[in-house]
Amino acid sequence: MHEPAVPHLHDQDPEIAGMVEDEARRQFEKLRLIASENYVSPAVLEAAGSVLTNKYSEGYAGKRYYEGQQLVDPIETLAIDRAKELFGVEHANVQPYSGSPANLAVYMAFLEPGDPVMGLSLPMGGHLTHGWSVSATGKWFRPVRYEVRADTGRVDMDQVRDLALKERPKLIWCGGTAIPRTIDFPVFAEIAREAGAVLAADIAHIAGLIAGGAHPSPVGHADVISTTTHKTLRGPRGAMVMSTAEHAKAVDKAVFPGLQGGPHNHTTAAIAVALKEASQPGFATYARQVVANAKALAAALLDRGYDLISGGTDNHLILIDLTSKGIGGKPAAQALDRAGIELNYNAVPFDTRKPFDPSGLRVGTAAVTTRGLGEEHMPRVAAWMDEVVQAASKQDESTVERVAGQVRELLADYPMPGWTSAP
Ligand SMILES: *Cc1c(COP(=O)(O)O)cnc(C)c1O
Repeated sequence: MHEPAVPHLHDQDPEIAGMVEDEARRQFEKLRLIASENYVSPAVLEAAGSVLTNKYSEGYAGKRYYEGQQLVDPIETLAIDRAKELFGVEHANVQPYSGSPANLAVYMAFLEPGDPVMGLSLPMGGHLTHGWSVSATGKWFRPVRYEVRADTGRVDMDQVRDLALKERPKLIWCGGTAIPRTIDFPVFAEIAREAGAVLAADIAHIAGLIAGGAHPSPVGHADVISTTTHKTLRGPRGAMVMSTAEHAKAVDKAVFPGLQGGPHNHTTAAIAVALKEASQPGFATYARQVVANAKALAAALLDRGYDLISGGTDNHLILIDLTSKGIGGKPAAQALDRAGIELNYNAVPFDTRKPFDPSGLRVGTAAVTTRGLGEEHMPRVAAWMDEVVQAASKQDESTVERVAGQVRELLADYPMPGWTSAP
């Protein structure tokens, strides 16, 4: 059952309670390989479910527009101090509702509508909010897009420099949602300096790896850093914008009153808890294990003849190109989900298929590492994935069902934060 238990929910709304319990069980039984997901601790769940949700706190500590901030002020200050300490930054704003609003705040802080902004193209691994056409950021600003190299699958830094000097963006984004390799923050910083642009590092995916010392930090290179708190960082759904002291005022004004109203205080408290957890030595071990698991899974997939974008991974994420396997990303992802292996279909660079049924699969190891799986399990995971991908192209549902049972059996031995088998 869900942990913490939800007895009042069962009494008042059995329909929702039932689905919450079923979702907890689903998360327990499945091999969760969605690269942006994780399992938060029961402590984070408790903070996120607390009475802090009842409180309005527009403004910042000591300068609020509502009374009664005796406890919210020190909670938010603690979250800020922990973020500054953990990431080694001069300023942190912990109020953005999620990653996309955090990124909008970065635009609000540094750009005027119509200004040029440069980011990694979405089908190459960038994020919608880095100026993709369907996003407000692509409609209200002038997007300039860099890509990855076809031969290496890695960001084309020569193209980044050429475009930056030619198009003179006011803001350059580095980071993205499907980048399996280390981001070269020093080179991005050099290019931004040459072009006279602000450098924004979006570390949504890799924040936990950076906090745990398993990926280089953008601090000292980027002018502003945005991140979600719920991916590898293993906190509640939320986000932060961090910066040098120089940009502190602009960042704060952009988040409130620029974009948002009252901060979600229950989330702020849960972020503070997650930041405390991420500062413990055990979290560095976790971050290193996430990367070790991804490398082990990548090696096992390569052994089975899978094409990986960039040929492998440096972080928590693997991008598989299924073209040579003769199956699209979507049918493969759907069969894998039926087999208890949850991931997402994804475009690959220079994809020849349509965005709604692209050629790739995106895989991440943050959640399974929280469950306690290690490198020794990764060959088996790769074998299951391979069996199911092959079964999917032959409509072989019995293999899919057998794998689902085997996955459940493996995971039964690995406890899940947020669920207990006790009645
Ligand atoms: C996940 C993500 C975001 C957006 O986060 P949401 O909380 O889903 O709005 C922004 N940028 C990057 C690079 C991401 O991976």
